[in-house]
Amino acid sequence: MRVMAQLAMVMNLDKCIGCHTCSVTCKQAWTNRGGTEYVWFNNVETRPGQGYPRQYEDQEKWKGGWTLDRRGRLTLKSGSRLKRLLNIFANPDLPTIEDYYEPWSYEYDNLLSSPAIDTTPVARPKSLITGDDTKVTWGANWDDDLGSGPDQVGRDPLLARVSEQVKLEFDKTFMFYLPRICEHCLNPSCAASCPSGAIYKRSEDGIVLVDQDKCRGWRQCTTGCPYKKIYFNHKTGKAEKCTFCYPRVEVGIPTVCSETCVGRLRYIGVMLYDADAVLAAASVTEDQDLYPAQLGVFLNPHDPRVVAEAERAGISPEWIQAAQDSPVYKLIVDYQIALPLHPEYRTMPMVWYVPPLSPVVDVLAETGHDGEDHANLFGAIDALRIPVEYLAELFTAGDIGPVRAALQRLAGMRAFMRSINLGQEPDPAIAPSL
Ligand code: SF4
Ligand code: SF4
Repeated sequence: MRVMAQLAMVMNLDKCIGCHTCSVTCKQAWTNRGGTEYVWFNNVETRPGQGYPRQYEDQEKWKGGWTLDRRGRLTLKSGSRLKRLLNIFANPDLPTIEDYYEPWSYEYDNLLSSPAIDTTPVARPKSLITGDDTKVTWGANWDDDLGSGPDQVGRDPLLARVSEQVKLEFDKTFMFYLPRICEHCLNPSCAASCPSGAIYKRSEDGIVLVDQDKCRGWRQCTTGCPYKKIYFNHKTGKAEKCTFCYPRVEVGIPTVCSETCVGRLRYIGVMLYDADAVLAAASVTEDQDLYPAQLGVFLNPHDPRVVAEAERAGISPEWIQAAQDSPVYKLIVDYQIALPLHPEYRTMPMVWYVPPLSPVVDVLAETGHDGEDHANLFGAIDALRIPVEYLAELFTAGDIGPVRAALQRLAGMRAFMRSINLGQEPDPAIAPSL
């Protein structure tokens, strides 16, 4: 066992209202310079949807993350070292500015000077860089709040994968928000794909950073990161990424996105993990096993043997205490209601999500209530408005068991607390299962 400490974040998606405050405050703090106009270290995307950059989850197209070769060894999807070096001068696997977006404003004149037309005039988007008002076709939130129904299956490949299991009808359209930052992965493919060795993971807290002096602008990291959370600053010619606000964290204050989050949904904490187990867990052969494998690398900070090993590894008493008090550890390991985003990318992401608990569709239609007092609450999980299958495609590589279990715990907790708040006796069928 080789104990290491890692800062991690859990976001409770039930509480995100899609206000984008986190994105704006992060941008004000970190990417308000020339060359980073298109960059959002923190972005909030509407799911189902294409995300930012557009269709970043299509790893066949972008060659991000790790895969297993024919002998079962962990290999970068972006190819061999030689291929990556040859690609340096013409990297074909990069999103273009159109996939992110060209910063735009509105051509408000269209509202005022539009000739008589059948439809209401609209303010057309125009590029802030070229002034062109014909080529702006995509933005980081172009599909904000659109949600999804049967005619939208083609927009989101995850939805296409589940549409055969889930009968999508218009009265079952759904949407939720997914805020994203760099995952500060335990097994970061951005670092592995950098020919200059410019990307490193801090041993003291696991934050992944780009050494600006060493970066030579090859952009293999952008290809290699399956979450597309490394950006190229075209003014400096260097790669940039979310720093987990390390200058703030080092003096004991939270990240900007956490501090300013309107929904108070971001939890930051310390996890202790077994560094020797990381590559083995990333190399499990069945996609279905990736979530439990990732869960298995975390160590119990209350176990005296783990504490002794952590002390031997030089982890400070304050950090061990922080790991023992960590809300993140409780949500991920104790309660198992937080899940990783796309564990099948095999980078071992360290930003986890409490899945959204949506209303029970049929009960809502019949009674106008959200179904949480439904007598058969636990059996109703499969009738939630957001299909469990879709959430599983996002968080557990398609394995619906852990998602269903997390939602059942959340539903039980909500019903339990509601009965207490109403001064009622909590349902004994629910209480013991919490
Ligand atoms: Fe690297 Fe962050 Fe991408 Fe993980 S999510 S591969 S740490 S840039
Ligand atoms: Fe969601 Fe919080 Fe960001 Fe608002 S500030 S979009 S509530 S994560």
